Amino acid sequence: MKDLVIIGAGPGGFDTAVFAKEQGLDVTLIEKNKIGGTCLNWGCIPTKALYHIATLKNEFDHSDVFGIKHSNVTLDFESLKKRKEDVVAFQAKNMMHTIQKLGIEYIEGSASILDSTTVKVNGTEIKTKHIIIATGSSPKRMTFYGSDLPVVVDSKGLLELKRIPKQLVVVGGGVIGLEMASIFHQFGSEVTIVEYEKSILPTFDVDIRKRATNLIKRSGIKLFTSSKFLRVIEEDNQTFAIVLTKKGELSIPVDQVLISIGREPAFGGLDLEELGIRSSRNGIIVNENKQTSIPNIFAIGDVNGELMLAHKATYDGYKVVSYIIGKPVNIRFDLVPSVVFSMPEIASVGKNEDKLEKGSYKVAKYMYRSNAKAQCMNETDGFIKMIVDMDGFIIGCHIIGAHASDLIHEVTAMMNENANISSYQNVIHAHPTLSEVIGECLKQFH
Ligand code: FAD
Repeated sequence: MKDLVIIGAGPGGFDTAVFAKEQGLDVTLIEKNKIGGTCLNWGCIPTKALYHIATLKNEFDHSDVFGIKHSNVTLDFESLKKRKEDVVAFQAKNMMHTIQKLGIEYIEGSASILDSTTVKVNGTEIKTKHIIIATGSSPKRMTFYGSDLPVVVDSKGLLELKRIPKQLVVVGGGVIGLEMASIFHQFGSEVTIVEYEKSILPTFDVDIRKRATNLIKRSGIKLFTSSKFLRVIEEDNQTFAIVLTKKGELSIPVDQVLISIGREPAFGGLDLEELGIRSSRNGIIVNENKQTSIPNIFAIGDVNGELMLAHKATYDGYKVVSYIIGKPVNIRFDLVPSVVFSMPEIASVGKNEDKLEKGSYKVAKYMYRSNAKAQCMNETDGFIKMIVDMDGFIIGCHIIGAHASDLIHEVTAMMNENANISSYQNVIHAHPTLSEVIGECLKQFH
């Protein structure tokens, strides 16, 4: 009998298998498609490979300010695609190497759960003490007139494109929509974002939403909020996206439409009802140990619908393994940092100001333009905002600006340690660094 069978080898399943094996468990990892799941193959990694190319392009486009002159920067689409594919292939190879090195049993095939101690794959039944469901999520679909036309794609389709679209309409101003819009805008596409809600990035802090909106508009990306994407039509050999904006119906010429209206849990063909595993539209229902309604079956990552981020999936898995081996850990799932790889980056941890009761907190802000390193880098757009409670404990931090994705972790670590600003204010930050925005922001609290 195995100790643990994990279904799905995305970041959740893979990292958990590695950790479980390191903790001495006899573990089997089953994957029906590609190792690395959505994150490695169609999510985090390919988008960030492209994002890096897009930021380089942006730097070249603005290099005059540094005295670097060049006549013509062009993008070679085939090389760009190959770069993205090489990064993914390297990571996949690395993961397989780790699996082999640690001696984790890895099975390619579609798994089903027969009962609480039996998993079936490729016709073989595996007996196990514990099961982890890590089957991920899939893009939410939308049906509209023209939704079956080849110009309409999801994020996976956009990453598999054969060329850079001239005119791209992005339906949905959430994290994925914004990242894709930023990347393809730098690649030269004319980008329009259509968002049904009043604002883009609805789950982010109010000030971040406002600044991101301004910066997007300034960059030349067209943004229609409180607007409804209606349909795609073909007329005289031209394709148009029809959008109902606040000012009436608009017809936008397109050669690609990205539908990025969110993701939904993917149950991987498992018959949850038959097994007696409770779930809702939002995902498999779990308790604080990520345990389903069957105590030795757990659900981690996107499939439990708590927060669809790769690192959350991984830490869900660490929580489960620690529980199984009887060494419970305290992981602060209220402090999962969220990052948007837009231009500039956005990063956030903890509470949003607009969710707090007036009088229960204090806020300080510090602008990137006051930071010497940001000036040197010509990256002066942005700010850091910190929120503390009335006793001086940090309860939220929101950053928009260069390297926000890296800066957020210092504050996350402090919050994890329940740091009070009175001690944190004395942490020395080297000069000149972007990290100084954190120290300077803290000094605003008296
Ligand atoms: P997945 O990665 O989806 O893996 C699930 C795996 O289970 C899949 O490989 C699937 O084939 C397998 N599976 C399903 N059913 C079965 C079965 N019956 N038998 C065997 N195998 C099965 N998150 C971030 O944190 N940072 C980012 O920058 C980021 N960027 C993203 C960009 C895009 C475009 C997208 C789409 C997502 C992005 N995400 C990002 C989200 C991230 O990809 C997911 O949160 C993460 O992949 C979830 O991991 P997971 O292990 O839960 O599931």
